[in-house]
This record gives sequence, structure tokens and C-alpha cells, in this order.
Amino acid sequence: MLHTSTCRERTKKEDNIKTAADHIEDAADALYDSVETYQKALQILTPSLDATQEKIDQLSTQISKAPVQTPGTAHSSYSSVVTAHIPLQVDRALGHAALQARQILLDPLPGGTLFPSKTLKHDIATKIKTTLKAARDDTTPEGTICSITTLHNGGIIVELETELLAKWLNNQPGKSALESHLDIPVLFHQHQYPLVLEYLPIQMQIEQEDFLQQIEQENQLETSALTSIRWIKPPTKCSAEQWKAFALLHITDVQIANDIIHEGLCLESERFSARKDRREPMRCTKCQKFNHIAKNCTSSQDTCGTCRNQHRTSACNSYHTTHCTNCRSQQHTSWSCSCPKFIKCCKELDDKYPEN
Ligand SMILES: [Zn+2]
Ligand SMILES: [Zn+2]
Ligand SMILES: [Zn+2]
Repeated sequence: MLHTSTCRERTKKEDNIKTAADHIEDAADALYDSVETYQKALQILTPSLDATQEKIDQLSTQISKAPVQTPGTAHSSYSSVVTAHIPLQVDRALGHAALQARQILLDPLPGGTLFPSKTLKHDIATKIKTTLKAARDDTTPEGTICSITTLHNGGIIVELETELLAKWLNNQPGKSALESHLDIPVLFHQHQYPLVLEYLPIQMQIEQEDFLQQIEQENQLETSALTSIRWIKPPTKCSAEQWKAFALLHITDVQIANDIIHEGLCLESERFSARKDRREPMRCTKCQKFNHIAKNCTSSQDTCGTCRNQHRTSACNSYHTTHCTNCRSQQHTSWSCSCPKFIKCCKELDDKYPEN
């Protein structure tokens, strides 16, 4: 009698645990592209911006120590550091950042085009060169166009000879000068550096129109350095007990982004820490394959992320068996960060988003 009731009690407990586990997994699925991404980002964060800053510091030291100094390198800019002929290995992140600093991105208006799809790059380059010449005034820095890259959306990336020229074109009045001399309507698109601001009080009015302007003033940042801020999870979806939340901030300048990572940001007289918002590959919690989420999964069965059998990961009993669905290895699970397939997907993302 006692035995039966203990057994029943135990089964009930196990059921409860299983139901709870299922609920947790459902919730995880639903929040995949918000919470999980950021939690994982916390763990696997290898901020390339940090590395970049370190390299720059190193390189700047090298330059200042160099016996012969060419004028203009005293205040090292991204590209001057990178292009300086010093015997130091320059890594890819730094190269990308320097390249980006010399680029402007022009997009067509929604539904429109900049140039007919068969237009030769040479012709596009000539057109932009002519426009730049016409738009030039006393404030325009030296230099012209190096190259043109056409994008799938009909937009173009214009690479300029100097960072200063790119900066001029990316800001007023350079922007309006180019716009008014180009007879095609364009949208300027700037590289953005996303940062996650941590543990902001939920009642903070970040949506207010002049909020970013106030923050720029409070932190003595240049005007328009901050382009947007939003809650990662809308406050309306937060529970009643939750009173702190994360926000996503976009910054136009890589140096400012770096400073904020190192020093934090003051919001309404309180300092908050910030970290890089790193993109991670999406992995489906139903079939364990990459690049889609469970909501969009076409697989009819659950595949366990731990042992690869046909059940939900939360229902797995095989604590000693690991089997990865994606690379068939038995040395790790499908959710392991050491999976070669995961590493490959990370690399693909990094190539697509060099600021990663
Ligand atoms: Zn799937
Ligand atoms: Zn399993
Ligand atoms: Zn694997």
C-alpha cells in the first residue's frame, strides 16, 4: 500500500517535471531569436572590436615609435594605421574595419532602382565620379572613387580613396551635395555597430524622441553618433516582477562603439555597461539543423539535440551518449559550440557581417 502510493507519487512528480520541461522548451522556442541569442552571445563572446582596439593601440604605439614619421600619421585614423607600412601582421577584422571606414553605401528607394541591372560597373563608377566632382566644394576632402560593388538589392557600395572623404559623404553637407547632384534618388546607408545595453530600468523612456540626443549630450558624443535604441523584448511583454531589461543601441562610429564597450554609457546620471551584439547561427530546437527556427521547421519528428534519437531534447535520458545530428560525430552534442558545422556557420556569418 505504502509502496503503491510512493510509486504513484513518484510517477506524478516525474510527469510534472516532464510537463515543466516541455513548457520550458516551448518557451525557449518562442523566444529563440531574442533571449537565447543574447544568452549564448554572453557565453561565446569574443568581441572582435576589443581585438581591433588592441591592435590599433599596438599599431599606434609602433607608429609613434617609428623613426621616420610621415605627416598625417600623428593622429592615427583607422586606414592610416592599417595602410602604414610597418612590419606587423594586420588581422582581417582590422582590415575590414579600415575598408568600411572608406565606404559609403547607397540604396535605391523602396521599390526603385539606382541603375538598370545590366549597367557596367565602369559606367556606374564614371557616373559617381562625375557627380562627386560636381558636388565638390571647399570643405570636400581630397580623393576620388576606388571601386564600385553592386549589391543584390540594387544598392551599391562605393569605396573611396580616403576615410575623410567617406566621412564627409556620410555626413551633412556632403550627403546633400551628392544627393542634389545625382539625378537618381538614393538612400544613404551607414554601417551600424549594434551594442546591447544591460539592465536598464524598464520605466526609462527610451522611445522618447529626444532621448538619444540627451544621451549624446550627457556623454559628450558627437551629434547623431547614436542612431537608434529599442528594447530587445517589448516592455509590454515583460512580467510584472521584471523591472530591468536589455536594450539594443545602434552606433555609427566604430571608435565610439569601442569606447562605450570599455567605459559604459551614462543614461540619466547612471552608468550602464554595454557589450557587443554578436550574431550567432540559428539552430532549430526541433530538428537541430541550422538556419531556421522550430516555428518554421518542416521536419515531422523531434530530434534530440543530445543523443540524436527521436524525442525532444528536454525528454532525453541518455546522459552519457552524445551524438551530433549536423556532423554525425559522437564526440559532442548538436548544441555544442565545438561542432565543426557550428563553427562553419559562425564563420559564414562573420563573412557576411564583418563587424561581427
Ligand atoms: Zn528544424
Ligand atoms: Zn536524447
Ligand atoms: Zn557536430
